[in-house]
Amino acid sequence: MRKPQFSPTRILTYLACPRKYRFVYVDRLGARYRQPRPYFSFGSSLHRTLEAFHQAGGTETQSVEDLLEQYRDCWTGAGYKSQEEETRHYEAGRQMLSQYWDSGAQEEVETLWTERMLRKDMGHYILTGRIDRLDRHGDGTLEVVDYKSGRLSVSEEDVSGDLAIAVYQLLVAHEYRVGCLKASIYCLRSQAKATIERDETALAQMENEVTGMVDAILADTAYACNPAACEDCDFLRICPRR
Ligand code: SF4
Repeated sequence: MRKPQFSPTRILTYLACPRKYRFVYVDRLGARYRQPRPYFSFGSSLHRTLEAFHQAGGTETQSVEDLLEQYRDCWTGAGYKSQEEETRHYEAGRQMLSQYWDSGAQEEVETLWTERMLRKDMGHYILTGRIDRLDRHGDGTLEVVDYKSGRLSVSEEDVSGDLAIAVYQLLVAHEYRVGCLKASIYCLRSQAKATIERDETALAQMENEVTGMVDAILADTAYACNPAACEDCDFLRICPRR
């Protein structure tokens, strides 16, 4: 039997609302009911731009004009309610990327890759995650970088409490056979960044916590509704909660 795959998105969907999790991952109704959203389109446009930018060599070979041209090519306008709303987001993205290029030109780290899916066999399930960027510092330390396009500030507590970051660190530690690595959240709007480091003990603890969450999900058969998460939910029309 194929092992179930768990990504941070899948676990976070369950934590937000078990019934929504059932609609998406058990009944597989996402493609039928999911509506495009501006924040998804905007985040996707920025992620695809930065992927293309780093694949082409980053600030070493690409000018800020190259980056903005890649942005134009990667832009997706799905989900915006008006041309005005789309233009506002597009211009905000141009500004973020210009600042990103400026700060990248000053950094002294090597970007190993961007936008890569990693997986780890956890025994009874597969842990997966799509990582935005992996950097290597001069001393060899690896650093996972996770872009956020909506927020303006971030603290170390935010990074250490972020489930996706923990999963990404577990996956990279497994892939590169390292016992200690950094991880950062990078706010594209403000260039704010916060970084933490997890050692072998902290990674083992996170692995136990993640597996505990996965086991709780696998054991659930009731998939309770969470009314606090209903606003803007794509499944409102078919949910028994409505
Ligand atoms: S409508 Fe509310 S209870 Fe139903 S799936 Fe969506 S968030 Fe959960």
